[in-house]
Amino acid sequence: MSQGFNTRAVHAGQEPDATTGAVVPPLYQTSTFAQDGIGKLRNGYEYGRGTNPTRDSLQEQLAALEGGTHAFSFASGLAAEDALIRALLAPGDHIVMGNDVYGGTYRLINRVLAAWGISNAAVDMADDDALAAAVAAGPTKMVWVETPSNPMMKITDIAAAAAVAHAAGALLVVDNTFASPYLQNPLALGADVVVHSTTKYIGGHSDASGGAIVLSDDAMAEKIGFIQFAVGAVSAPMEAWLTTRGLKTLGVRMDRHSDNAQIIAEWLQSRPEVERVLYPGLPDHPRHELAARQMTKFGGMISVQFKDRPTISGEAAARKVAESTRVFTLAESLGGIESLMNYPSEMTHASVKGTELEVPENLIRLSVGIEDVEDLIADLEQALNKL
Ligand SMILES: *Cc1c(COP(=O)(O)O)cnc(C)c1O
Repeated sequence: MSQGFNTRAVHAGQEPDATTGAVVPPLYQTSTFAQDGIGKLRNGYEYGRGTNPTRDSLQEQLAALEGGTHAFSFASGLAAEDALIRALLAPGDHIVMGNDVYGGTYRLINRVLAAWGISNAAVDMADDDALAAAVAAGPTKMVWVETPSNPMMKITDIAAAAAVAHAAGALLVVDNTFASPYLQNPLALGADVVVHSTTKYIGGHSDASGGAIVLSDDAMAEKIGFIQFAVGAVSAPMEAWLTTRGLKTLGVRMDRHSDNAQIIAEWLQSRPEVERVLYPGLPDHPRHELAARQMTKFGGMISVQFKDRPTISGEAAARKVAESTRVFTLAESLGGIESLMNYPSEMTHASVKGTELEVPENLIRLSVGIEDVEDLIADLEQALNKL
């Protein structure tokens, strides 16, 4: 019988140490392993770039939580994405991605990989006809979906995108960073591969960078494993260990992030300064019903757009609020236990300014932490009262 999510989070890949019984598997802070004779390896361990028990433990935990059979952990989310694309595509292939994917994903695909002969198109993933047309214009080998998307909080129908991709003989990749495996399992909805920036919710404490790939296809996994080893953008042992520790509490954290965010999104909607709150848990989100079907809760990320008013423009209001909070810290990144404030058009998404992925200048993005929600609202209230 398969165990529940939280049981898997705490126990998958976390057997007590065989030698000492240490309940927490040790951090194998080593770059190499003694051999008992030339080529006589202990349990297959040879050299840190190839394998490390701490990384193995994280990879097992990740696979168990996403419902895949293989997981690979990397030094960052973008390192994972780069390895995935180089493992599965070749020059001449084409990627169709959402037109509001993470700015760094767009930059990797459009500036780095394009120079190596992999072409791309960006489309509105909520528009089924546009997606089908872009895929058909191919030769599309990969469709790249991010849902909820960063920072516009768009929701893509994963099962529908899988059907379109598969009909064209393409793979569906889902960046599941915003939802985390606790709220959404793309493999179960038909995706072929899941990628994560584990820097965010999976690690959850803003103390370790990392990325992951999870899938269930043996042949593709072999290619990805080869690139992980041959290129070497692996997660370091300490980072893997911290990520494993954070991941054990993912379920309780996501419950609290989601509950806090729902309350804050509703409160923001009641404020006269606010033009629009982008949060899939709000009934007026254009794809609220779909989000409720494909996610178990709506997560901790909220974007807010401010109105142009006679006294202050929406852009100036967004900048002022971003710089006025005290509990929310102005910083890049998201998904940690502490609340973060971000002004995407100058911060996380500065690299897509002037492209079709440009973020509105009256928008702030909140990563709602696990603090007491009354304190978070009081903080936002004092910032909005300054407008
Ligand atoms: C942060 C992020 C990435 C990139 O991850 P890094 O760990 O910063 O390399 C990719 N996708 C999404 C949705 C992200 O938020």
